[in-house]
Amino acid sequence: MSLIPRPSNVKPGEKFDVIVVGLGPAAYGAALYSARYMLKTLVIGETPGGQLTEAGEVDDYLGLIGVSATDMIKTFSAHVAKYNVPILMETVDSIFKDGQEFVVKTKRKGDYRAKAIILAIGVRRRKLGVPGEDQFAGRGVSYCSICDAPLFKERRVVVVGGGNSALEGAELLTRYATKVYLVHRRDEFRAQPIYVKLVKEKPNVELLLNSRVTKIEGDKLVRKVTVESLKDGTKRELEVDGIFIEIGFDPDVQFAKRNGIETDEFGYIKVDEWMRTNVPGIFAAGDCTQLWIGFRQVVTAAAQAAVAAHSAYNYINETKGNSSGA
Ligand code: NAP
Repeated sequence: MSLIPRPSNVKPGEKFDVIVVGLGPAAYGAALYSARYMLKTLVIGETPGGQLTEAGEVDDYLGLIGVSATDMIKTFSAHVAKYNVPILMETVDSIFKDGQEFVVKTKRKGDYRAKAIILAIGVRRRKLGVPGEDQFAGRGVSYCSICDAPLFKERRVVVVGGGNSALEGAELLTRYATKVYLVHRRDEFRAQPIYVKLVKEKPNVELLLNSRVTKIEGDKLVRKVTVESLKDGTKRELEVDGIFIEIGFDPDVQFAKRNGIETDEFGYIKVDEWMRTNVPGIFAAGDCTQLWIGFRQVVTAAAQAAVAAHSAYNYINETKGNSSGA
């Protein structure tokens, strides 16, 4: 089974009970619960699996023992397909209210209507913002160790960051690269202790703590990364073939802003414990919300998604008298 959903035969202008925006675990979870509430549901998203596509093996989702991320996405997708939920591979441009309904405007495939919306739009990769980062993107600069580690067999690499992504990525890279420099701006890691332990045990890892990357240089490919000590300002030039920037994610602030959805100071969508946003009828779930920042897991996304769909169901029932019906 492919990760790409079968082409959907929904027609522009079609009305739904719920439109789920996104295509990661939270979106699949919301679609599943929504369909099981017998709500006519449409999913509109861009990348099947969302950030989960960048994971390797997942072994912390109860009931799925040591499953590959790809198989996990296929399972989620098959589960949703069982309920015949159409999936439209598209970018949502804007959402606005028209009477009691929401109109979801897509970039290329027209508008769709729904009584309730569940936003599961995820987050975007953070960049370092140093010279050479954009110039060498895809030519030694990578944002996904899990995707690109095998390309660096017998090479020397830098990994930047101190969270789960960086530590998990560094550990993976030690299996391919001859040398892995792990550069982190503090001397403590925020990653789960198990990842820190695994990395520290590897003989081909060198930790450069209290340090930051200031420059990435090369010819056609990355050749050199400059690292500066944040303690005494000393600089070190590392001769490497690649740099993995794994410094976290930022929410899509603009999407929330242009659709009147309230966010916290960092741009994460504000939800209450029932996943309600400030706009009645619009719910949110997963990494795009301000809930449980710093502990993003597939299981937490799935939990939020189930609650969001439950709330959408209640909202639709409560507002039934006013609705024109899907
Ligand atoms: P994260 O937890 O936000 O960590 C980002 C790391 O990058 C932090 O160590 C941070 O330093 C550093 N950083 C941030 N901005 C930086 C900058 N401009 N320059 C240098 N360093 C910078 O991000 P993540 O590791 O990508 O994880 C994101 C979420 O996914 C987390 O909730 C994580 O738990 C989850 N995740 C889970 C798993 C898993 O469970 N297997 C795997 C991967 C990710 P400070 O520590 O100093 O802030």
